[in-house]
Amino acid sequence: MKPSPFAYAKARSVAHAIDLLANEDARLLAGGQSLIATLNMRLSAPRVLIDLNGIGALDAIALKDGMVEIGALVRHAQAERSVELAQHAPLIAKALPHIGHPAIRNRGTIGGSVAFADPAAELPACLLALGGEVAISGPRGARNVKADDFFKDLFETALTPRDVLTAVRVPAANADGRTGFAEFARRHGDYAMAGLAACARADGKGLKDVRLAYFGVGATALRARNAETALAGGDVDAAVQALDRDLDPPDDVQATGAVKKHLAGVLLRRVARQLMEPRS
Ligand SMILES: Cc1cc2nc3c(=O)[nH]c(=O)nc-3n(C[C@H](O)[C@H](O)[C@H](O)COP(=O)(O)OP(=O)(O)OC[C@H]3O[C@@H](n4cnc5c(N)ncnc54)[C@H](O)[C@@H]3O)c2cc1C
Repeated sequence: MKPSPFAYAKARSVAHAIDLLANEDARLLAGGQSLIATLNMRLSAPRVLIDLNGIGALDAIALKDGMVEIGALVRHAQAERSVELAQHAPLIAKALPHIGHPAIRNRGTIGGSVAFADPAAELPACLLALGGEVAISGPRGARNVKADDFFKDLFETALTPRDVLTAVRVPAANADGRTGFAEFARRHGDYAMAGLAACARADGKGLKDVRLAYFGVGATALRARNAETALAGGDVDAAVQALDRDLDPPDDVQATGAVKKHLAGVLLRRVARQLMEPRS
């Protein structure tokens, strides 16, 4: 199918993009890897597409004040090759190769993935596990929203229709930091049936500050808070049992909720082992 007709405007700057968003029924275009598919299937028919791709200031990865800042227009492939990300945000580096295929990662952007907020996407869960934040610019200025408050419901975030996501920030890894990542997909590159991004800090032979963010098991990426407490207490079996209270996955085209819950437990055991490895 072909998309409904739309007008096209190229934004020169973030401020220009925000001005253009005043047009009725306008939509931002980043990598186009999700948006163009929805237009072609006529699931969405905006009147105007505002192309962010010419805004050079949004395509950098930088270490600032103990945070890794990733510009909204950083492509997945660019992030995958980044030495800074591998060193300072290893959880994101682990997750990136699971996103689609190289052709998709060449165009898809970090900002697009987080703004789109697909419940089965890897990066929203990483952002949540790391306790990161989202930088947003809108008609009333700039603001930062914590990842815990950003993902609201199915494909719904703290972004309003007049906002541009400009960057995401995550705390830079330090010596006692631990991360873990695992997902089940039918084929490598498919959206996950269930996945888990996690981080913690080493505490003697155990862990503290455990954050477990699941994806593919609900309307948004979501934290398993009871399992976090049990894992910080050193009891993996109790953590797996606690998932009964944390997760209630709905059936979807990939699997039943019961299968997803079982997979969530298997993922937790795998990720718990990763978290115990030094410098993981
Ligand atoms: C075959 C296939 C397989 C895929 N597999 C995966 C996968 O396994 N995991 C995964 O996570 N993703 C997967 N994707 C999606 C891919 O990661 C997309 O790139 C991503 O979801 C959207 O990023 P984008 O830059 O392409 O955004 P676009 O498609 O351009 O935009 C997506 C949405 O976000 C909005 N948006 C984009 N940028 C901004 C911004 N800066 N501020 C505010 N709103 C913005 C747009 O208006 C639009 O509504 C797959 C895609 C395809 C085609």
